[in-house]
Amino acid sequence: MRIYQAVFVVSLALLLAGLAQAGGHADKPTVVILATGGTIAGSAETQTQAGYTSGQVGVEVLIDAVPQIAEIATVTGEQIANVGSQDMSDEIWLKLAKRINELQKSAAVDGIVITHGTDTLEETGYFLNLTVKGDKPVVMTAAMRPSTALSADGPINIFNAVAIAADPQANGRGVMIVANDHIHGARSVTKTNTTAVHTFESSESGLLGESLYGKNRYYRYPYRTHTTDSEFSVEGVEKLPRVDVIYITADVSADLIDAAVKNGAKGLVTAGVGNGNMTGPALEAVKSAINKGVVVVRSSRVPTGATGRNVEVSDDEVGTIASGSLNPAKARVLLKLALLNTTDIQAIQADFELY
Ligand code: ASP
Repeated sequence: MRIYQAVFVVSLALLLAGLAQAGGHADKPTVVILATGGTIAGSAETQTQAGYTSGQVGVEVLIDAVPQIAEIATVTGEQIANVGSQDMSDEIWLKLAKRINELQKSAAVDGIVITHGTDTLEETGYFLNLTVKGDKPVVMTAAMRPSTALSADGPINIFNAVAIAADPQANGRGVMIVANDHIHGARSVTKTNTTAVHTFESSESGLLGESLYGKNRYYRYPYRTHTTDSEFSVEGVEKLPRVDVIYITADVSADLIDAAVKNGAKGLVTAGVGNGNMTGPALEAVKSAINKGVVVVRSSRVPTGATGRNVEVSDDEVGTIASGSLNPAKARVLLKLALLNTTDIQAIQADFELY
């Protein structure tokens, strides 16, 4: 072999090795799908029945149902869990966040998709939004109809999710949720309908973008701090502190608050009426919880608008934290993470304004 031929062969080998390192394929981005279960992986006896079981089929079945994704990305799958998201847990959150952080560091991966149930998707999404370290797209998707249903919505949602995860323009937008063509930010998204395919809304914050058959349009970046800029980390964390949500109603049984404290809650979130209000006896129980060192966040069961400081409840006097625009479930997520670092109520109030 002549010297110029040898140089050519070596250069080609180096180029191919570089491409393999950078993305697995010379022409297509590499996307990893992490499956956790949900209706998207659910199955029923017939195509038209309402009853079904979540988390039945594995990630390979989900991938095989959308052969079109091979045109936009090289896709591999991993099964992180296979549960209905009503059974989502701190343990799965930690496992998922740690695996995503490994993939964020891998030069062979361009983007990550997570399949999940719709019920608690917004909680997992917000948890990941605060604990993922890296700018590569992390896109969650789900379905309202099981994989076996007539007009199942899972395949198109997976197709769009892969298209976003493979899209360099999606970098740095925090954890995104795509369903029914809409791209939501993890902080703002909420499930609004028990059965409709168009269940996810971002209300006052608005959509991050849209994806139509994998053609993505972006409208904005999320305003609140997330992922690489977040101070929260799951590294070395094996357990999260217990935080309970107390749903406030007229004449609520205030001893539920005492029971949560007795059973080991380190934090409480009240899903208050109106602007995070609660009955007199509930407020007394909150004060006694705070005296015992429990951190209490006031949120609201009202779906939109913010819970503000010192409106009808004097947070300054009582020692409570106002959740702002975070709903009770998401306030619980932030409080769990905040309690890993501090119990100082001013510092935690600042977290609720930043994240
Ligand atoms: N219960 C299901 C779940 O969250 C509902 C769904 O995925 O749509 O896993």
